[in-house]
Formats: sequence, C-alpha cells, structure tokens
Amino acid sequence: MAKPITSTPAVFQQTLLKWYDQNKRDLPWRGIQNPYATFVSEMMLQQTQVKTVIPFYGRFLKELPNWKALAKAKPEKVLKLWEGLGYYRRARNLQAAAQMIVRDFGGNLPDTLEEIVKLPGVGPYSAGAILSIAYQKPHPLVDGNVIRVFSRIFLLRGNLKAGEGHKRVWEIAKKLIPAKRPGDFNQALMELGATVCFSDNPQCLLCPMRSQCQASEKGLQNELPEMPKAQETVEVSMAALLIGNKGKILVKKRSHEERWLKGMWEFPSAEGSSFMEALKKLEKNTGAKAVLREIQSVRHQITHHKIHLKLFPASFSGKKKLTGEHLWASSKELRKLPFASAQNKLRDWVLKNHKP
Ligand code: SF4
Repeated sequence: MAKPITSTPAVFQQTLLKWYDQNKRDLPWRGIQNPYATFVSEMMLQQTQVKTVIPFYGRFLKELPNWKALAKAKPEKVLKLWEGLGYYRRARNLQAAAQMIVRDFGGNLPDTLEEIVKLPGVGPYSAGAILSIAYQKPHPLVDGNVIRVFSRIFLLRGNLKAGEGHKRVWEIAKKLIPAKRPGDFNQALMELGATVCFSDNPQCLLCPMRSQCQASEKGLQNELPEMPKAQETVEVSMAALLIGNKGKILVKKRSHEERWLKGMWEFPSAEGSSFMEALKKLEKNTGAKAVLREIQSVRHQITHHKIHLKLFPASFSGKKKLTGEHLWASSKELRKLPFASAQNKLRDWVLKNHKP
C-alpha cells in the first residue's frame, strides 16, 4: 500500500534546498552579488530557455556593465545586443528601467515590492525573482515551471494560468517561501521544473519531491497540469521590398505604432490578406514599383501568428516622400542595424547574394 503523503512547508523547503545544493546547474548569473546582473538575467530569462540566454547575457554585461551605461546607451545598441533573443519589448523595457533607476533611485535598484513594480517590464514574477535573488527578501514567484511542479505535487486541476487557479498557485508559493535562502528556494523550484519535472516524461524516479508528490503517487503526472486550449494560429502574409541605389539598400525603422518589433530595422514591408495586397500597400507607401517575382521567402512565428515573408525586388523613382525613419544603408551599415528574426534571415540572404 502506498504511504500517505505527509509534508509541511519546512519539510518541503529542506528537501528541495538539499537537492538544489547538490544538483544545481552552474549558470553565469548564479552566486553573484550584483543586482544589475540579476535584473538583466531575469529579463532575458522571461519566456526563454537558459541555454539560449547564456551567450546573450555575457555579451550584454560586457558591453553595458552597469545601470548608467545601459541608461545612456543608444537604443539601437541595446536592440542589437538583443538581436536573436526575441521579445524585443524586454530590451526596450530594460533600458527604460535603467533610466528610471538612474534618474529616480540614485542608481540603485529598489529593494521593495512597492517600488520595484513601478519599473517598466517588472511584473509579479520578475519582482519576486529579483527581490529574492538580489536582496534575499522572502518574495515568492510563479512561472510556468512552478505551475507545473505545484499542479503535480498538490494535485491542482483546471486552468492554473489565470483566474482562481492562478491565485491558488500564488497562495501556495507564498506559504512555502522560506525566510532564509528565499532566492535559492525560488531558483530550486524552477530548476526542478526545468531539469526533472519535465512537461513530458517527468523523471519521478529521480525526483527529490517524489515522497511528497500526489500526482506521482496516483500515477497522474502525465495528465497535469491541465492546460487551457491554445489560441488558434493566424496566418499572416507579408511582403518586403529590396530597393537598391548606388550600392546602398533602403531600410526602414519600425515605428512605435507597429504591433510588433518596435524600433527594429527591416526592408520596407507590409502585411496583407495576400502577397498581392501587401505589395500594393507597399507600392502606395513608397512609390516603388515591385517586380512580381519573389527572390527569397522565410517563415517565422510570433506568438500565435505564423508569418510568411517574401522579398521582392523593386525600383524606386524617389518622387514620393517617404514617411517614417528610412536609411540608405551600405553593406557595413546593414550588418550593424538591429534586425529581428525573419527580416534578419532576409538580410543574411541579401548580404550574401545581392550585388548592388
Ligand atoms: S515526483 Fe514526478 S511529478 Fe512529482 S514533482 Fe517530481 S518529477 Fe514532478
């Protein structure tokens, strides 16, 4: 007969921290006493895997080693350092937070919940992570890993990402957070989710929490957490123009009215219900004349949008005044500008294949 599950917050904390001490991964942002570095790492880790973040983190800190350097850097430099990491809003928020810290907090990251949530891009998760890791304050956090681990250990059903289910997860996190080593405890919870309690095939036989886990005891670990239905995918057609003149190529900065990738650079582009419609919009906006023969095509996904982007050569009379920020870029300049994923693939292709 299976043993009844008995656990208390103290037993939970001790078991998890002991396992963490013996099994934690050696990551560049661990074991350092630098609130700036902790803040940068937490912004980068939002919705992004550890192995993806590592090289970006090192480069970013080398180029922009403190709040002041980040606050006064050109926004393009910050975006360039973020290029390829995705979710570019995080980079813009990070710089805005640095400017606020320098201007309003004397160059020191605030250490209270009330103040830290005023910083752009800092929600309840980041606040908990930063206060507990950088300042050893007992603030809990909840992310996808924590939701998965708790749903299994405490046998929580229903949607835990919103509403009452989400509140319930936060309540448990608040009850469990220890006064001593809260940062390690929060990291241990996420580490367990990332390295043992996988979404598919959780490694229950290797798990330190097995004797406290209700799902494992009942054989329900593969059924939890119960996820809400995924949003339906939307197909988006996008056309881009390759316009050359005297060895330079026309590129455009995405404005702050765009729904995605604000501040990133691109070949002049437009969306449409078809490529023809997108091309017509582009011709109208730029006064250019496109050749109806695509020279490159890439696919990319942003949230639930599946983007199909095609590049068309075009000629430009220069009669129409361009609106927005445009630049005739040499190959060298083109390489230096921050481009997001799909447009970055087009840029690589253009730099390799286009002879001006
Ligand atoms: S025992 Fe299995 S299901 Fe439970 S927390 Fe550990 S890995 Fe996850």
